[in-house]
Amino acid sequence: MTDLKSQPNEYWKEKLTPEEYAVTRLKSTEPPFTGKYYNHHENGMYTCAACGQELFSSTTKFDSGSGWPSFWDAAKDTVELIEDTSHGMIRTEAVCKRCGSHLGHVFNDGPTPTGERYCINSAALHFDGKKA
Ligand code: FE
Repeated sequence: MTDLKSQPNEYWKEKLTPEEYAVTRLKSTEPPFTGKYYNHHENGMYTCAACGQELFSSTTKFDSGSGWPSFWDAAKDTVELIEDTSHGMIRTEAVCKRCGSHLGHVFNDGPTPTGERYCINSAALHFDGKKA
C-alpha cells in the first residue's frame, strides 16, 4: 500500500474539496459555528476526510459550545498528538495517524471520563451513519 503520508500536494488537491484541503493539508481552521458537524447528533463514525480512517465515534461526541465538533476521545491508535507552537501558543495538534492530515487540537478541559476535548474541524471529517 502506498504511504499516504508521502503523497504530494497534487494528490490531495485532486482528492479533496478546497475547504478540506485547506484544513487537512495546510492546517487551516474553519470559522466556528460554520462546519457541517458541530451541531450534528446522529449515531455513527466520523472518518478522516482525506483517507477514510475511522477517527471518532458519535458516542464520544459532546456539545462543547465552541462551534467545532468536539469529542472526549479518539478511536484507538488513530490520532497522533503533536506539540504545536504556532500562533504564539503551545497547543497539542491532532493529526490522522494514517495520512498525516491536520484534524484540529486537543485540550485538557473536556468532560469525564477522559477530561480531554478533541476540538476538530468539520472539514477534516466525513460521517458514516452505518457504523456506531
Ligand atoms: Fe487520514
